[in-house]
Amino acid sequence: MIMKTKSAQSPQTKPPAFLEELLQARSPSGYEDEARDVVRKRVGEIADHFIIDNLGNCHASLGTTGSPTLMLAGHIDELGLIIKHVSDKGFLYFDAIGGHDRSMISGRRVDILTKNGTVRGVTGKRAIHLMTPEERKRVPEFHQMWIDIGASSRDEALDKVRIGDAAVYDHGFEMLQGSMAISRAFDDKSGAYAVNEALLRLAKSKKPNCKVVAVSTSQEEIGTRGAISSAHLANPDVALVVDVSHATDHPDADHRKFGRFTLGGGPILTRGPNVHPAVFQRLMDCASKEKIEVQIEADPRPTGTDARAIQVARDGIPTGLIGIPLRYMHTPSEVIDLDDLEAVVRLMVAFARSLKRGEKF
Ligand SMILES: [Zn+2]
Repeated sequence: MIMKTKSAQSPQTKPPAFLEELLQARSPSGYEDEARDVVRKRVGEIADHFIIDNLGNCHASLGTTGSPTLMLAGHIDELGLIIKHVSDKGFLYFDAIGGHDRSMISGRRVDILTKNGTVRGVTGKRAIHLMTPEERKRVPEFHQMWIDIGASSRDEALDKVRIGDAAVYDHGFEMLQGSMAISRAFDDKSGAYAVNEALLRLAKSKKPNCKVVAVSTSQEEIGTRGAISSAHLANPDVALVVDVSHATDHPDADHRKFGRFTLGGGPILTRGPNVHPAVFQRLMDCASKEKIEVQIEADPRPTGTDARAIQVARDGIPTGLIGIPLRYMHTPSEVIDLDDLEAVVRLMVAFARSLKRGEKF
């Protein structure tokens, strides 16, 4: 595989406004309203049909009847914190929504989403000066951290925040060099952007032979829950899932364990039991036709993505999995290459156009 090298002098890529809006939206699993509003605004009018289902999945479709029906799935939820307890002094204790690295939680500014708007807070913990040498080596447990909103009593805190309110880190989108970008929650707002952007491009040019349903799924981070119900409703003949995938081109990844995947190396296509071989092959063929460089990942188990749920929905759905290479997954500052994301969009458009009327995998 040829590794693209990009110099620091590469011209700065202009990020898509739709992607930036999705990243600004705060949407911890189960609390995805802001992201749904962005999707509705961007694709609701252009799609032939747009609905939000009972689990909060957005279904935007092109073509009302169709054989085959192609489902494109990317999740709009992100990691978050959920308020569990408020102390007498007004400090908020929390649990995690999704798989957090506990060493990353303290010292962050957070936005708590309440019924009266955003409440700012900071994740506090005991200062290093006040720890024993042994304590300094340990990662704090959840109950050893708290959110400080500046309240002085439980009543004052509960006046602003309710038990069950969710919070996200205040780490927004920024460009790095060239086409590299940094944000919280590229996992998987970048995938949700990609599936909806593919639908928009299909809508603006010659319509494909199939019905296309772009589904922005909810609650992926807590067990691919939106994918379970949305795959049933969308009832596709074939599905493509887009999620982020580990780039291993940083100084602490053993390629013998994790394979070699680079930012800028193109979409990562998964092979293994969770992926239909003919769907994988069609993606390879489309990539080759479109001159899109791809990377191949082998996964022997159900993947940690919506593909896990969609493949076994109904009587089984031929499913493919496209990964956006990403560094620092599930940290507040994830890094992707926007050129990879653009290639993912183009690959899905090419896949949709490749489907013949009535085709089955
Ligand atoms: Zn994730």
